[in-house]
Amino acid sequence: SQYDSLKVWLDGKMVGYSEATVPILTHSMQYGSGIFEGIRAYPLPDGSAGIFRLSDHMERFVNTARIYGMNLRYTKEELEDAVMEVVAANGLSSCYIRPFAFYNDDRIGLSVKDKKVSVYIAAVPLGNYFSDKNSGIRCRTSSWHRISSSVLPVQAKASGNYLNSIIANSEARRSGFDEAILTSPEGYLAEGPGENIFLVKKGKVLTPGDESDILIGITRDTVMTIARDLGYEVVARQIHREELYIADEAFFCGTAAEITPIVEVDGIRIGQGRPGNVTSRITEALYRAVRGDTVHREWITSVSIA
Ligand code: PMP
Repeated sequence: SQYDSLKVWLDGKMVGYSEATVPILTHSMQYGSGIFEGIRAYPLPDGSAGIFRLSDHMERFVNTARIYGMNLRYTKEELEDAVMEVVAANGLSSCYIRPFAFYNDDRIGLSVKDKKVSVYIAAVPLGNYFSDKNSGIRCRTSSWHRISSSVLPVQAKASGNYLNSIIANSEARRSGFDEAILTSPEGYLAEGPGENIFLVKKGKVLTPGDESDILIGITRDTVMTIARDLGYEVVARQIHREELYIADEAFFCGTAAEITPIVEVDGIRIGQGRPGNVTSRITEALYRAVRGDTVHREWITSVSIA
């Protein structure tokens, strides 16, 4: 594959990408029982890699494992060191990092009791998640609701949750849109399949609140912080679907998606139908932050690249 020259960390050892394989009956392949993270590193001015909010991502990773009672066998700190090792070993100052833990056991049966847990960490080059990122994307409200906390823990970043994301994304793509927007079973705005969502209305920055059925994204927290730093009022609360239609601006955010303007929803133009000023200002501030050019230096873990 395109990744054959990469090295990955697998259960404490660095191995070649093509050596890291699993039996086809592996529990996590059959049942979606894996858990994961998505982290980006950006080049710093001195040429090293700056891993963005590593500690926050690994905290969510170990918390996801705890929610599912999965014994990772590595501490958060050991896993952070492993991420740094993978970035250094592959010499990637700009990359997307994918830590993954799974039941590496091919015995049939749902029970995870006494099943072996493996952890790998891969790092790959990754450009824009959406090809139309700069001009803005067109979305539709999904006919599928976001999974609710009564069904699955939405704050856990577990593979199984992404079937809900995939069916919504597929429906949107099939019907000619770039991405889906999911609502809660009650009809409130939730999130994208792999992104949190923000609106801008009369200079205020709005996002579904912590009580919503959403993954509490790390980029969402970054955006809220830098928007406040820029002097905007930021409100996290329950949001009606129609508030999106009458917003001045809207955007998705996430580690992979970064900040992606939304210019149309359900055939309705948002604001002027192009990326708005507030979105642009927050985007520029995010790019400064990931390169270490803010007061939030603690967000960056620097790794030297040979
Ligand atoms: N929601 C979902 C469902 C996601 O998969 C992601 C990506 N991890 C996000 C939101 C954004 O989270 P973060 O900013 O932590 O990447």
